Amino acid sequence: MSHCHDVLGIGFGPANLALAIALREEDAGLDMRFLEASAPGTPWQGGMMLPGSDIQNHPVRDLVSLRNPRSRYSFINYLFEQGRLLDHLNLPVEFPLRKEYAQYIDWVAGHFARYVEHGTTVVGVEVAEHPEHGSVYRVTAADGRDWLARTLVVGTGRAPYVPAPFDALDDPRVCHLTRYLPTLRALRETAGGPPREIAVIGGSQSAVELTLDLSHRFPEARVTVWARSHSLREKDTSPFSEEGYFPGFTDYYYRASREGKRALDAYMRPTNYSSADGDVLRELYVRMYEQRLDGEERISVRGSRRITTAEAGPDGIRFDAVESVTGATEQARADLVVLATGFRDLGPGERQDRFPQVLAGVADRLAFDADGYLDVSADYETRPSVAGTPPLFLNGLCESSHGIGDAGSFSLLSIRAKTISDGLRKLSR
Ligand SMILES: Cc1cc2nc3c(=O)[nH]c(=O)nc-3n(C[C@H](O)[C@H](O)[C@H](O)COP(=O)(O)OP(=O)(O)OC[C@H]3O[C@@H](n4cnc5c(N)ncnc54)[C@H](O)[C@@H]3O)c2cc1C
Repeated sequence: MSHCHDVLGIGFGPANLALAIALREEDAGLDMRFLEASAPGTPWQGGMMLPGSDIQNHPVRDLVSLRNPRSRYSFINYLFEQGRLLDHLNLPVEFPLRKEYAQYIDWVAGHFARYVEHGTTVVGVEVAEHPEHGSVYRVTAADGRDWLARTLVVGTGRAPYVPAPFDALDDPRVCHLTRYLPTLRALRETAGGPPREIAVIGGSQSAVELTLDLSHRFPEARVTVWARSHSLREKDTSPFSEEGYFPGFTDYYYRASREGKRALDAYMRPTNYSSADGDVLRELYVRMYEQRLDGEERISVRGSRRITTAEAGPDGIRFDAVESVTGATEQARADLVVLATGFRDLGPGERQDRFPQVLAGVADRLAFDADGYLDVSADYETRPSVAGTPPLFLNGLCESSHGIGDAGSFSLLSIRAKTISDGLRKLSR
């Protein structure tokens, strides 16, 4: 039987990278391995590496600093080791460029390369019996290789949310934001010239960034934002609301009833969802105003719109939209549709997954609460429904149990890494 690891991580994005650092720095003495679908050096959120775009988190809320500000793997030390610290501090910007943060993540990941199997997409997880360790996980990759482990940490990030009616369309002219740049590259390689009509679906930060980017890349194109909300809203950046990204809020949220959680979600939503930063909103507004001055209104925002049907044809994607206040319907056509529609959370709802898809093979061993949510302990370990199920942790997937600080962001990444590494160390004793 092959070697059985103490810890096996699925995915090596920022969440499991932060965990790997914590396990190393806290000298957990655990033998760890991570399986990552992408090739080495694949940029963080590379499908949206838009020129000039910045990050959405305070840069000190990086992979390590809240847990260990003396870590070598902080963003500040990265800049120092690159000889760019002073230049960076002198930048007239509030937040670092996404490009630079992606390079930081890649630099840190490079120091942990020996723990990672890149180009390895996990397709199956099951429980197997090991002569020495009893029940363990067997994890299988798409190429048929498998690994054994006493504990598993799922850090696969959230799955893209593709709403109806676009979920029924398999067409290269329709893409989720995570595939934006690869889709543009593929369209360039096929005949037909640049897109003339573009639809951006959603009212998020990404929707605004995409609209600006598309209007720069394709100055002749008409770009229309189709949003469910009345118009484009600025993020709630009140320092009081931002305390939702403190560990104290995570504990408070975790203990709240489902009804309490719903109320807290409603309050915290505009800090992260269906809203955008003031800088990009202002840039878009001024650009639209300037287009009006020039008599060329190429960008428009169509709010309160629900797309009801969509069909792919030789002349593009045709869709119908209903104005939710007046009930009026309209028909539209686009050469390219970009879905800035966010991600799927864990839960029983329409835009949720009951469990991470990679765990389908062990889902019947997972406990769910009375509302249909996965039962996850405060330290991110899933509770089993079958005795003898080996420990299984979720890293970065627990917004529905732990609140907005767990919304796949950097905010509490390093603190969560400590919580999970403490849990793993306890189990290894
Ligand atoms: C465009 C964009 C910009 C963002 N900007 C910010 C920001 O500025 N600040 C912020 O805090 N958050 C930002 N986010 C949120 C972002 O999700 C987090 O910052 C961070 O990437 C979450 O890390 P993660 O490791 O949980 O997930 P991910 O970054 O999604 O990493 C998951 C990893 O798992 C791998 N994987 C998935 N399935 C498998 C499988 N079956 N087998 C093997 N490997 C697998 C993936 O290849 C991926 O590398 C942004 C998100 C997007 C989409």
